[in-house]
Amino acid sequence: MPHYQPPLRDMHFVLDELLDLNAELAQLPAHAGLDATTVHQVLEEGGKFAAERLFPLNQTGDREGCHYDAATRSVTTPRGFRDAYQQYVAAGWPSLACDPAYGGQGLPVVLNNAFYEMLNAANQAWTMYPGLSHGAYECLHAHGSEAQKQLYLPRLVSGEWTGTMCLTEAHCGTDLGLLRTRAEPQPDGSYRLTGNKIFISAGEHDMAANIVHLVLARLPDAPSGTRGISLFVVPKFLPDAQGEPGERNAIGCGAIEHKMGIHGNATCQINLDGATGWLIGEPHRGLNAMFVMMNAARLGVGMQSLGLTEVAYQNALAYARERAQGRSLSAASASSASSVPADPIIVHPDVRRMLMTARAYAEGGRAFTSYVALMIDRELNHPDDSVRREAADEVALLTPIVKAFLTDNAWIATSEALQVFGGHGYIAEWGMEQYVRDARINMIYEGTNTIQSLDLLGRKVLMDQGEKLRRFGEKIRHFIVAQSADPAMAEFITPLADLAEKLVKLTAEIGGKAAADPEEMGAAAVPYLRVAGHLVYAYFFARMAKLSLTRAAGGDPFYQAKLATARFYFARLLPETAMLIRQARSGAASLMAMDFS
Ligand SMILES: Cc1cc2nc3c(=O)[nH]c(=O)nc-3n(C[C@H](O)[C@H](O)[C@H](O)COP(=O)(O)OP(=O)(O)OC[C@H]3O[C@@H](n4cnc5c(N)ncnc54)[C@H](O)[C@@H]3O)c2cc1C
Repeated sequence: MPHYQPPLRDMHFVLDELLDLNAELAQLPAHAGLDATTVHQVLEEGGKFAAERLFPLNQTGDREGCHYDAATRSVTTPRGFRDAYQQYVAAGWPSLACDPAYGGQGLPVVLNNAFYEMLNAANQAWTMYPGLSHGAYECLHAHGSEAQKQLYLPRLVSGEWTGTMCLTEAHCGTDLGLLRTRAEPQPDGSYRLTGNKIFISAGEHDMAANIVHLVLARLPDAPSGTRGISLFVVPKFLPDAQGEPGERNAIGCGAIEHKMGIHGNATCQINLDGATGWLIGEPHRGLNAMFVMMNAARLGVGMQSLGLTEVAYQNALAYARERAQGRSLSAASASSASSVPADPIIVHPDVRRMLMTARAYAEGGRAFTSYVALMIDRELNHPDDSVRREAADEVALLTPIVKAFLTDNAWIATSEALQVFGGHGYIAEWGMEQYVRDARINMIYEGTNTIQSLDLLGRKVLMDQGEKLRRFGEKIRHFIVAQSADPAMAEFITPLADLAEKLVKLTAEIGGKAAADPEEMGAAAVPYLRVAGHLVYAYFFARMAKLSLTRAAGGDPFYQAKLATARFYFARLLPETAMLIRQARSGAASLMAMDFS
């Protein structure tokens, strides 16, 4: 049986010591009254809910999956999911980071983010139901009309209703310009929507009284491609005059998918047979509006992967301490009791490499995503317009890295954690193979990781002549300059500065090649994003090392451990960038040469 312990100590370190949350929040009028003690209390309670209520449903939910009843077009979620959701709603968790104007608690995004890490570690499939609802809340909050906000937001905030995002169609996944679902205007101002969506997460279930689908569709006069897409709100039950679920709308689930992982989450075919919906925002600007939800979801997917990395690490560590196989290569780490026939596998260097890989990706990911979440809080709430804009630019630059780097790393980390168990990792009993299966989807949905890398290199870096990257690089440069007089920091600062310089050169080189041949950008983008991800992690590990060097003297083993993780990261994971840079520089020719016919 796997176990999960919320990593509260590391969360406190990241929030309080690395990011100085109290000082940050003091600058944001909306959160000025919030202190670290309250943040810790919320995280502790949230961790309890995740570990005690959701975690026990993770393996059972995976085995049981969701059930579809064709006669009623209804979906039953695994045993216990519905009760856990009702408890979640009763405790007020959905409203944590929502606007008080609609019943929210108005707490910062950075806190909600940490909470979501724990929910995902405990049960990713379950967490997708409230996670998508929160995305729908954000989209309607940003783009809904006042009447739409009054009707839908309080119910999404309370968790009484859940939300979905309906983009994908059978012939239209990455390329949303191919979308065919139609929306016909009606005399009463509503629209009739007709079409078929596939792969809609949480598209149908038994957990809430109503489901608010946010659907992309085309108006009759729509231009072709992505500039002709509009966004609609299409509830499962049409709200009556009191806003309560009334008549059943002509939107429903035609089937659910049988899939590799996240079995507890219903992945639905959603049919719209003249369903009633209402336009959100302006006609033909739907993709713009949906981007609010997609960006939130991209960060959310990063948090899914961080949660899986952490829980897989914890279980692999416990196993490696217990499982005895073989003798240590050195007398120093061998078990002193001669009666013990073998040492625990944690003595073996390569087992430690696997454990440390997962640990480093968890700790690096936690520092990085907490920082991005804090930048979102700045973007939303800072009184100075220029600070808000700067934060927004950073969030835009870093979002594809959160999505792709964390999800690739979780695939690596969960696989390494499984490997620590040997054959016992491959069988279902220990729960490790589920983490690998669940982690795989995160690299695909919300824009595949290839698409994230094209977004980073093409749109976020080359299209603005590297300006956003340059400004983030300035932060790194300031840190490097400030540490240059400290010899103890040289082991971290030297490789950080080296990689920063190499990324600048690489960007210029690819930019030059891409101007002559756009295939060069496509050929370089995936290794480029991974190099950028490592630069960001190296920056945060160096900052964490700085804090730990000064605090380790106090004797707290936490800081020694943090230093050990940082050193492992620089010695064993960062060097991957040498290979990645060579790959990125190798150009498009070797990819485009083959005649596959
Ligand atoms: C379990 C699950 C849950 C999902 N949940 C939702 C949901 O809630 N709502 C929703 O709307 N959708 C959802 N999706 C759909 C998901 O977002 C898409 O599967 C994903 O965007 C990829 O689209 P596709 O599957 O059609 O692949 P395709 O777009 O056909 O891509 C196939 C391959 O080609 C590559 N590729 C495509 N275009 C390019 C390009 N221009 N340049 C380089 N490479 C390219 C892709 O990276 C990929 O490797 C879900 C999917 C799954 C499996």
